[in-house]
Amino acid sequence: MQFSVPCYACGKRLLVSEGAAGAHLQCECGWEVMVPDLLTLRQQAGLPSHEARPAELIAHLVNVGELPEGRACAGCGQDTDEVVETVAQCERLWSHDPGDTNVALAWLVHWALPLLVKESEERVFNRGLAVPVPLRLCKGCQGPLGPSVLLWAAGFLKLLCGISAVLVLFFVPWLGAGLLAVALLAWGTERAVRRRRQATARRLLRRVPLYDRLLEDYPNAVIVDPDEKLVLG
Ligand SMILES: [Zn+2]
Ligand SMILES: [Zn+2]
Repeated sequence: MQFSVPCYACGKRLLVSEGAAGAHLQCECGWEVMVPDLLTLRQQAGLPSHEARPAELIAHLVNVGELPEGRACAGCGQDTDEVVETVAQCERLWSHDPGDTNVALAWLVHWALPLLVKESEERVFNRGLAVPVPLRLCKGCQGPLGPSVLLWAAGFLKLLCGISAVLVLFFVPWLGAGLLAVALLAWGTERAVRRRRQATARRLLRRVPLYDRLLEDYPNAVIVDPDEKLVLG
C-alpha cells in the first residue's frame, strides 16, 4: 500500500509505504518532509482508520520487500547497503509465563475453573512469536555489536572454570572455591555485555517508527541476529 505525501517546499508528491509512517524523508529539493503517522495516512487516503498491529504489518512489509526502508544506516545516518537480519522475539505480550506452572496444578485449575482455559490458550498462542526486523546498519556501526574477544573470553572462562571447580571442589576446596569465583565473575561479565548490547540494539531499532511501535507492544522482546553478524542475546 502506497500513500502520497506532499512536499511543502516544491509541491512534489512523494510516494511512501506504510513502513514510512512517522518518518522524516528528504525530498529531491532538499526539504525535509515529515510523513504523518499511519492513522493519518490512512484517513487522508480515505481508508478505514483501523490500524493493523505492528507485528502483522512488519511481517507483511518484510515479505513484500518494503523493509528496511530507505538507504540510511540506523546508527550514523550515512547511506549503506548493509542490512542485518535482526529478529525480535516478542513471545510475551502478557507478563505471566505459564510455561513454569506445575502441570498437575495447571490441570487441576483448568478442570476446576474452565473459564481460565481460554486465557491460557491465548497466552500459549502468543508464545514464540518472532518478528523479523531487518535493520540497515553500516559496517562501522555493526562493529561494537559484532563478535568480541571479551565476550568470547568470558564465555570460555565461565565454562572452563565452572567445570574445573566442580571437579576440584571436593579434593582441594580452596582451589575449587577460587575457580568458582572466577566462573561467576566471567558469567557476570558476559551477562553485563549482552545486556548492554540488547539496549543498544533496541535503541537502534526504535529509530524505525514501525519497530518503535512493535517494541511498545512487546517491551520485553529479545533482539537476536540468527546470522550472527551481531552478537546480542
Ligand atoms: Zn521538495
Ligand atoms: Zn552507520
